Amino acid sequence: MGIRKRILVTGGAGFLGSHLCERLLNEGNEVICMDNYFTGTKQNIHHLMDNSSFELMRHDVTFPVYLEVDEIYNLACPASPIHYQHDPVQTTKTSVHGAINMLGLAKRTGAKIFQASTSEVYGDPKVHPQQESYWGHVNPIGFRSCYDEGKRCAETLFFDYHRQHNLRIKVGRIFNTYGPRMHPNDGRVVSNFIVQALTGTPITIYGEGEQTRSFCYCLDLIESFVRLMNSDDSVTGPINIGNPGEFTIRQLAEKVIEMTNSSSELVFKDLPSDDPTQRRPDITLAKEQLGWEPKVSLDEGLKKTIEYFDQLLSDKSATVSQMAVRG
Ligand code: NAD
Ligand code: UDP
Repeated sequence: MGIRKRILVTGGAGFLGSHLCERLLNEGNEVICMDNYFTGTKQNIHHLMDNSSFELMRHDVTFPVYLEVDEIYNLACPASPIHYQHDPVQTTKTSVHGAINMLGLAKRTGAKIFQASTSEVYGDPKVHPQQESYWGHVNPIGFRSCYDEGKRCAETLFFDYHRQHNLRIKVGRIFNTYGPRMHPNDGRVVSNFIVQALTGTPITIYGEGEQTRSFCYCLDLIESFVRLMNSDDSVTGPINIGNPGEFTIRQLAEKVIEMTNSSSELVFKDLPSDDPTQRRPDITLAKEQLGWEPKVSLDEGLKKTIEYFDQLLSDKSATVSQMAVRG
């Protein structure tokens, strides 16, 4: 066990944030989980509530906060396109004002600060696979821009605070990540397909399903967060973190159907605007600077995620039938 630190995790009640809080507590740290529960739930961190080193704080990251901390992981921001497009102005505020507030906190306390950036900074990339040196191909005024440009501006702020105020920054560009605790109605492709397959409803493929993504299992990703935070101060990022295995969306659908033995059929829907056609991280830098690469294959990770949703859905239907009996 290392030195006990006081660590703030914004967006800590979300999918990735909850796994990160758990990991940091297991290492013996004190963790403050800050969230406004826009897309996160108390259910995700319910099992941590009895831990006296864990503190839950309802707070919106777009407002300043005064705390004493050694490290900050800034994850607050809806990540699913459906959620971040629901209130796009708030999404940009969350990324930009949130970054300013957290960087201000880091400046006052001298804390090290990690930013959950995204592969979306590359937009619909014309360079494949994506390396950190690529500046991207991003629409500044489209439906995804609130997220993409918000995250890009957050990166700008991180690097300006680093150059201007010598802040110790760690910027990780996260590629599509999946696993237990994704919200079942989150709208992202892995959770959608698994829930659809398990409930026997049609699998919704947007476009022809020929677009590609690279899927990383959540615990692999959390390992990279911690390694990046613990790396030498000279390692600032931006650094790609994700699984370089690349699959078409149609391949993913077929895999999920096969693994769940589902009778769901495929249905084809309109492709959302600016949906990137291809995405795969070049993780050479993460291997060199963090000694990190993902260990969990898509098949293994999907198996665990299917088990999670299977349990969740049967718990839910049990609750519904109990209510029906009581009613
Ligand atoms: P998530 O939606 O499950 O988690 C986001 C959390 O932030 C939620 O708990 C939400 O309630 C909270 N939040 C949103 N706005 C807030 C605000 N204004 N103040 C305080 N809390 C707020 O999504 P996730 O997949 O866990 O993503 C976590 C972070 O990682 C996000 O910053 C996201 O952009 C980034 N990321 C995730 C992926 C992925 O594939 N999961 C990919 C790229 C980047
Ligand atoms: N997608 C799909 N069906 C769904 C949800 C998503 O075909 O039910 C597609 C989506 O158009 C995109 C890919 O799957 O091409 C990944 O979508 P997601 O929302 O998970 O993340 P993105 O990488 O687009 O941010």
